[in-house]
This record gives sequence, structure tokens and C-alpha cells, in this order.
Amino acid sequence: MVSRVIPVDVFDLVIFGGTGDLARRKILPGLFRRFLAGQMPPDSRIIGAARADLDADAWRDMVREGIDSFGGPELRGHDSLPAFLRQLDYVSVDATVEEGWPKLAALMRPDVVRAFYFSVAPGLFGALAERLHQHAIADQGSRIVVEKPFGRDLDSARALNRTLAEHFREDQIYRIDHYLGKETVQNLMAVRFGNILFEPLWNNHYVDHIQITVAETVGVEGRGGYYDKSGAMRDMVQNHLMQLLCLIAMEPPAQFEAGAVRDEKLKVIRALKPVPAHHIVRGQYDANHEAPSYRDEAGNPRSFTESFIAIRAEIANWRWSGVPFYLRTGKKLRARHSEIAVVFKDLPHSIFEGDERRHRNILSIRLQPNEGIDLTVTIKEPGPGGMRLIDRPLDMTFAKALGEEAAEAPDAYERLIMDVIRGNQTLFMRGDEVEAAWAWTDPIIEGWEKRNDVPKLYDSGSSGPDDALMLLHREGRRWRDIRA
Ligand code: NAP
Repeated sequence: MVSRVIPVDVFDLVIFGGTGDLARRKILPGLFRRFLAGQMPPDSRIIGAARADLDADAWRDMVREGIDSFGGPELRGHDSLPAFLRQLDYVSVDATVEEGWPKLAALMRPDVVRAFYFSVAPGLFGALAERLHQHAIADQGSRIVVEKPFGRDLDSARALNRTLAEHFREDQIYRIDHYLGKETVQNLMAVRFGNILFEPLWNNHYVDHIQITVAETVGVEGRGGYYDKSGAMRDMVQNHLMQLLCLIAMEPPAQFEAGAVRDEKLKVIRALKPVPAHHIVRGQYDANHEAPSYRDEAGNPRSFTESFIAIRAEIANWRWSGVPFYLRTGKKLRARHSEIAVVFKDLPHSIFEGDERRHRNILSIRLQPNEGIDLTVTIKEPGPGGMRLIDRPLDMTFAKALGEEAAEAPDAYERLIMDVIRGNQTLFMRGDEVEAAWAWTDPIIEGWEKRNDVPKLYDSGSSGPDDALMLLHREGRRWRDIRA
């Protein structure tokens, strides 16, 4: 069965930073995939914008190279690429000066959706918003897409929200968190709210604890300078992990609609308890015989920035009181593995004599690799010899269960860009959500900055520092394996 593609309205999408890494690596290959899927109307245009003095053909060549390098084998040298490239144009503008903007203004067409992707450093967001307004390039129906990081603390996020609000209404602002565009993440909502089975158990009566892991094998590599000022808490927890936590923990919204979903997510963030220092473990990867240390890669021999963090969080509300949420993310870990695991409580009583082992139902939502969902259930070991119990997953790896449909599913960026064109904000963060997330993370970061907290060293290719294991061990629990 081939997936259904609903074309969007004709649009003009301007990508500020069209020559940058994100545009070439993710945004443009993603748009080409939507073009191939038949979702991009033939009259739509993608306009690259950056300071570089290029003509449209030079930018098309750059986009072609980007698609060849990053689009995967199925896009490389594709016959339809020239047709896609014909829908592209380029204009040279500098966010900080006047030149070039009248030319961009002249390119814009009436009566089509106008979207502006700010794929530039956050320091330029304000200037871009101002110029779009000043040159009447943005209209009342226009949308802007802003990339992470959205501030580096509560004050800067508030300032950024205020700056954008000077020229755009909240319903025009799309703060992107590509984790929310992942197929599995949306499936999490489908599983929770589309089945009667789970919701009655989704609370502190039946759930023992929840684990959210986002493990990477890569180090900071070329991004060391940026990352060293950020660290895992700002780069991953404040946005991606908190968004996942919200979707797991939120109350059922009345409808699957932007306002309702975002209201419920906000309530979760606001209900997060402050985290005491002994519920946090920070780590930094060490050198080994074949790879440099974090400090070497970051070019800062005295860096105290964390490349790993584990947190035991709690939500103070009726549903989740007493249920720990263990969050963990890091670089240079054993495998690239992202998962949310809902670990249910033990049976109140086992009727099977001699079965000493603990059998627990675990609902695992895998973001990567092998996107899918499985539910560990206890069954009888086949064969004679009495009632011996084993735990096995009811496996719904999407690639296996859905075949071609799963293979054709859009990736996170392309799905989210199409949502921008449709005007659907459900999978984007609202300004108050981002601020509430910073309000929770700021005191944690301030705490370790005040203490001059030194991250624990961990071996590259491990599961992180031993102290992170202790965070669960001391409560009689254990992390799930990080495995490919
Ligand atoms: P990048 O490779 O440094 O690209 C920056 C882009 O901005 C270039 O196209 C640059 O072109 C343009 N630019 C710089 N100054 C400008 C100005 N004054 N006026 C107009 N354009 C200007 O950065 P990136 O990695 O693509 O990142 C872009 C944004 O996405 C950042 O906010 C970053 O945090 C975020 N992000 C990136 C990634 C990623 O994987 N790369 C992932 C998540 C979020 P010119 O020099 O020709 O002007």
C-alpha cells in the first residue's frame, strides 16, 4: 500500500541561510523528497537567501551537491532533480544591511503562502524579522520558522520571544524541534490516545518509572566551539528530551489540535519539580587509544562542559506523583540509540510457583535505529517441562510492520516544513513552552556553575559515567541497554 500524499497550497519559501550546512544537509534534500512525493505544487518556489553573491544557477549547483552528498542513494543523480531545481531561485541579502531587500520584496507573489525559514545564527533572527516587516515582505498570513537554539537561558529566550512578537503574532511563529517531527514520536500519541489499552494504566498506579535515552556515538567534532558554550543540558535536554517527556506525561488533550496539545505540554513542564544536585550526573568523554577527549575536540583543556547528562526528574501532579522520569543523553556512547521506555510495575502476586524472576511489561518507543514500538510481555516458554515464563517483545518495527509505507514516510524536517505551509502548529513549540522549559533548566545549570561542578569522565563507547548507573541502582532499578 502506498502512503497518501495531500498536496499543500502553492507557496514561496524563503530560506535565509540557504547556503548553510542545515539547508544543504537537511532542508533542501527534504524538500526534494516532498517534490518527488508529489506534495510540492509546480508553481511553488524555494528562494535561497544569504550574503554570498551568487546567481540562481550557482545556488542550484550548490543545492544539487547538497542533495547528492546528504540526500542518500535514492536521491543521488535523480532524473527529476532538474525539474525540482527549476523551482529554485536565489537572492543575495545581508540581514544587517539594507541592500538586496527590495529585490527580495519584488520576488514575492500575492495570494500564495509565504514562509521564511530562519536557518541562520539566532543572533540574526531579530534583524531578519525587522527587515521582513520594514520592506513589507511578510504579510499577515506569513509564517516564520526559527531554528534551535531558542535562547541559552530564560532571559535570552524571553528577549527573543519579545523581538519576534514585535513583528509576528504567535500563530505565525514556528519554533522547530525536529524530534517532534519524527514518525515514532507522533505514533506515541497515536498509541496513547488511539487505543483504550494504555491510557487506564498510564499513571502512578501502574507505571514504575519511565526512561528517556538519546545516545549518540559521535563526539562534538567540528561543532566544539559552539557546543562548549552549550553542553548536553542546553543542547538536548531543554528542548528535545523535555518535549519527549511532555508527550509521554501530558493529559489527553480534548483534540489533536495545536492549542490543545500545547496547553497540555505546558502543564507538564510547569509541574516538573526542581531537581536536587544528587539527582543529576554530568559526564565528559575521555580520550582513549584511538580517539581524542572531549576537551581536545572542544579545543578547551579546562572545559567543565558536559557531553553527557543523566537526570532523575519528577512531575508533581496526581497522575505522576512518585514516578521517576530518568532522562539521559550523551555523545560518544556505545551506540546510536534513542528510546522512551515505560516500565510498568511488578505483578501484585505471582501464581506461578518457583518463578522467582521479576517479569515486567515494558512499552518501548524507539526513535532510532529501527523506528518502532514494542511491548515486552511475559509468556510461557514453549515445550514441555512445566510452566516456565519468559519475556518477549510484541514487536512493531515500522519497517517490518508497514513495509513500503514506512519507507516512504517523510523525515522530520520535511514533515515539519509541510506543516508550516499547511499552517499547522501542533508539532512546534509555543513561546511559553520554551520559556517554561528554561525556567526549569536555569536553576539546575546555575547550581552546577556556582559549585564549579566537574563532570565525571567516561570512556568513549561506554554507557556514560558509573555514577549515572548508580542513579538507578540505588533505587533498585537499572537503565536499559544502549544498543544498536
Ligand atoms: P551555517 O552553516 O554557519 O550557515 C549559516 C548561514 O547563514 C549561511 O548560509 C550564511 O551565508 C548565512 N548568513 C550568515 N550571516 C548572514 C547575514 N548577516 N545575513 C544573511 N545570511 C547570513 O549554519 P547552519 O549549521 O546551517 O545553522 C543554521 C541555524 O540552524 C543555526 O541557528 C543553527 O543553530 C541551527 N541548527 C543547525 C543544525 C545543523 O545540523 N547544521 C542543527 C540544528 C540547528 P553567508 O555567509 O553567505 O551569508
